[in-house]
Amino acid sequence: MITHPKYIFVTGGVSSSLGKGIIAASLAKLLQAQGYRTTIQKLDPYINIDPGTLNPYEHGECYVTDDGAETDLDLGHYERFLNVPTSQANNVTTGRIYQSVIDKERRGEFLGKTVQVIPHITDEIKHRIQLLGNSGDYDIILTEIGGTVGDIESLPYIEAVRQLQWDLGENNALVIHLTLVPYLSAAGELKTKPTQHSVKTLMESGVQADILVCRTEHELSDSIKTKLARFCNVKKEAVIQSIDASTIYDVPNLMLEEGLDKVVLKQLDLESNQPDLGRWNEFLKRHKNPKGEVTIGLIGKYVELQDSYKSILEAFIHAGAENEVKVKVESIHSEYLSKDNVQEKLSHLDGVLVAPGFGERGIEGKIDAVKYVREHNIPFLGICLGMQMAVIEYSRNILGLDNANSTEMDEHTPHPVIALMESQKDVVNKGGTMRLGSWDCNVEVDTLAYISYNRTEIKERHRHRFEFNNDYKAQIEAAGLIATGYNPETGLVEIVEIPSHNWFVGVQYHPEYKSTVANPHPLFVSFVAAALTYKNNK
Ligand code: GLN
Repeated sequence: MITHPKYIFVTGGVSSSLGKGIIAASLAKLLQAQGYRTTIQKLDPYINIDPGTLNPYEHGECYVTDDGAETDLDLGHYERFLNVPTSQANNVTTGRIYQSVIDKERRGEFLGKTVQVIPHITDEIKHRIQLLGNSGDYDIILTEIGGTVGDIESLPYIEAVRQLQWDLGENNALVIHLTLVPYLSAAGELKTKPTQHSVKTLMESGVQADILVCRTEHELSDSIKTKLARFCNVKKEAVIQSIDASTIYDVPNLMLEEGLDKVVLKQLDLESNQPDLGRWNEFLKRHKNPKGEVTIGLIGKYVELQDSYKSILEAFIHAGAENEVKVKVESIHSEYLSKDNVQEKLSHLDGVLVAPGFGERGIEGKIDAVKYVREHNIPFLGICLGMQMAVIEYSRNILGLDNANSTEMDEHTPHPVIALMESQKDVVNKGGTMRLGSWDCNVEVDTLAYISYNRTEIKERHRHRFEFNNDYKAQIEAAGLIATGYNPETGLVEIVEIPSHNWFVGVQYHPEYKSTVANPHPLFVSFVAAALTYKNNK
């Protein structure tokens, strides 16, 4: 154990979408695998207080932590790689920084001073960066700065990093700069100039990169590395190649081969050991050598976007490896699904997952899909809105409750089988006001949920406003859709199942947020197993 926490800052240059989050998570994994207590934080330079109010078209999925923070999807990668929960402190936006400073100003805490970007905003950023370090829970804190250097909105963050490097002193902090080394096919060459310019931009703000991680489609030759080292003021061993990988889960091993962990530990004056990646490599081996394949339909309204169902897709990778099968996920747009084409679009699938979501768009397609899989005994997992759709479908088609709906979609429905909780009725503000974060759930024995979790007390993460309406519970259960999990304090229904069906489970919470490489989520593992059985019995 080390007495003073060490800080690693990860900045990005040249282009966005280079995968800073994956590089940070991979390095953190290597450090954790050498016995260092490691965490990662993401600083996002936008003005929203958190991504909770953002449409998935903007930054992809909104990830949710145990303590109910609505965060950037990179935190999902951190948890999946490290298997350590993140929290509110792991994601900070410019909006939140300004909000705290402005609140302090209103309380008179600045004693009549003029409140300015420097020092007040930068001080608040420095404070947020050090919160995790001061908790005493970690040896090494990696802080990923969102955006690209040179962006106007990133400036206060880069300045905070510059100051912190001085405050913390030598060997206690370092800067990793992630850049792109593009290949110009016409010239047949890799080009270093964009990286040189990006390092120069960083230097204009007084920050010298200690380590360069260079994204590239082709191997960086020795002479390219020498050139980058010479023109960017870094040691040659600190020029790290990050070549395109077939899976993000290869990146820790690729970084290990490049010696990223060694350079980092040396600069931080910490001992480096052989990382223990046993469990990780075991997972990789199973992931890369599947013995079979199942096809699961993912029904949602953002399916054209890779990032909007990130945690669900990753949970399938974990559950696939656990079952030693490849899970082929077929994205199906709910808006284009109808009674007339469900057969054609779904009949070949081995399982169907109806995705979470908000608003009316595409919901009738989701309901048609649930009806089809229910009638054809195809394994079904409904998450959040997906579970609500299952309840609505059952109410309409089995109980004969015409126009049953959620009051989210139809305020005046004659049968509000999904409705707003009393405590949500007066909520006006949008951000951070849903039922969020980890809630207890008691699982009934002899149910699919119990068989999957193998326990009666679980905790799962939520992000929704509407709930199963308990006024309809007796009626719905008598007809064959039963509640198999509920919150012990409120009695809210968290899990529903159809015992007469092959494998039909709807959950009001989001199991996908808790699936990690080390702990594939039990419900996803069972769902994939059920899909495999279904396929084999076809
Ligand atoms: N829109 C639904 C609700 O608010 C479901 C939310 C979700 O799927 N995350 O209850």
